[in-house]
Amino acid sequence: MTDKIVVAGVSVDTRHWIGGRRVSSAETFPDVSPIDGRTLGEIARGGPAEAEAAVAAAREAFPGWAATSRAERARILHAIADGVEKRIEDLAIVETNDNGALLRSHRRGVMPRVAHNFRFFADWLLSLDHEDFETRGHTNHVSWDPAGPCVLITPWNAPLMLATWKVAPALAAGDTVVLKPAEWSPLTASLLADIAAEAGLPAGVLNVVQGYGAEIGDALTSHPDVRRISFTGSVPTAKRIARSAAANLTPLSLELGGKSPLLVFADADLDLAVDLAVEQYDNAGQVCLAATRFLVEETVAEEFTRRFVEKAGRLVQGDPRDEATDIGPNIHPRQLEKIDGFVQRAVADGARVVIGGHRKDGQFYAPTLLTDVAQDSEIVQEEVFGPVLTLQTFADEEEAVRLANDTRFGLAATLATGDSERAERVTAQLVAGTVWVNCFFVRDLQAPFGGSRQSGVGREGGTWSFDFYCDLKNTVTAPNGWNNHG
Ligand code: NAD
Repeated sequence: MTDKIVVAGVSVDTRHWIGGRRVSSAETFPDVSPIDGRTLGEIARGGPAEAEAAVAAAREAFPGWAATSRAERARILHAIADGVEKRIEDLAIVETNDNGALLRSHRRGVMPRVAHNFRFFADWLLSLDHEDFETRGHTNHVSWDPAGPCVLITPWNAPLMLATWKVAPALAAGDTVVLKPAEWSPLTASLLADIAAEAGLPAGVLNVVQGYGAEIGDALTSHPDVRRISFTGSVPTAKRIARSAAANLTPLSLELGGKSPLLVFADADLDLAVDLAVEQYDNAGQVCLAATRFLVEETVAEEFTRRFVEKAGRLVQGDPRDEATDIGPNIHPRQLEKIDGFVQRAVADGARVVIGGHRKDGQFYAPTLLTDVAQDSEIVQEEVFGPVLTLQTFADEEEAVRLANDTRFGLAATLATGDSERAERVTAQLVAGTVWVNCFFVRDLQAPFGGSRQSGVGREGGTWSFDFYCDLKNTVTAPNGWNNHG
């Protein structure tokens, strides 16, 4: 195994990062680019021994990091953000080669946001406070104590963005971290380890282990020294992690899949509604929050469909490194099989293909819209995680809400309407962690983020992140302080 590979001119270490040093494994796994099927390199394939070593390193580093002042922790987080900003181009090109998402979004949106994740939680830490309050003359003081080593497990669709959305608040909180990135996109987590070390983060505070979830996952999530587990990924994996964490009652944050609706009312600005609809093909449909079910008021459904087809037809599918590309490849041949299976079964079930409905050369799937789909069908109920959308119509608001809420998920919902009272009425009835009205994907780090029903457990963002990553303590001091009996 070579310790380093070069991806588009950027050197990336393929080993784990444990206790402030690089660690190899006896075995490796190949990391393949979805752009052209080329093997980028062999990555260290961790198992229980590496999990044990990483948790031990995090446990050892914890007392020192937890005792580090808020100001010093914030300073180091800002230094990590500086390091990310210096390497935006490297991070962007490596991520694009690794997971096939657009280079232009990585450059201008995602990687700057990664830096912002560190800055935001550093600043939020400094302002984190709860006013003391009195009970019969006694003072109550609330503090956010660091909880301990955290295991953070993340998916491949937005690797560094989703990893740092957990790493930053955990480090800010005074916790130490074992990060396990997805095996289909392991590279930028390794670069983050370099950046954090250069920024002065002490050894063992951030550890990165690589490997297949099925091989290293249980050892991490059932470990008795782990105080928090934050997971973003699929529902079946989440259930497995929850069972494993139950052994120690380790608190969990779960950010899972969705089948979110886009509700288009007849009073909506239809051009805006179509813009919002076409956005759902972003990242080749591999977005947890994507509004994959269009629910359109029947009086405007035909016109909405006509404009949607026209606009979607102008999307450019191709090499994600090309600035002109709108839709890149899907992550893996297995994912492509899965996507096509969903579409073929839906068609066999009576769905009508409005656009797409087939694979293309390479690892691409044609942007697809299906209609004539039944509410209880697989294609309406299950997350595809590819560029596959469905369209159903509704007669009135009541039916719209009923269809919108009728899945086992509850991650997000998007509304297009010109009537603010309707927006309020409908929003109040929707089961969703986030509702966007006449907009999509606007996300402030201080807002609570998470899913209802099987889309997740818990909320992160702003103070909610610190509530999760800390042990909250209330200290009650007697009226006379230390001289109560004096
Ligand atoms: P996945 O569940 O297959 O894998 C996610 C991570 O879990 C990977 O790192 C994987 O190695 C690890 N893993 C697998 N088995 C494990 C085990 N037994 N123990 C511990 N870890 C294990 O999900 P995926 O295919 O990588 O990601 C796609 C899913 O993620 C979709 O369902 C998508 O909706 C969801 N997602 C949700 C959000 C959100 O914020 N709600 C964001 C992005 C993606």
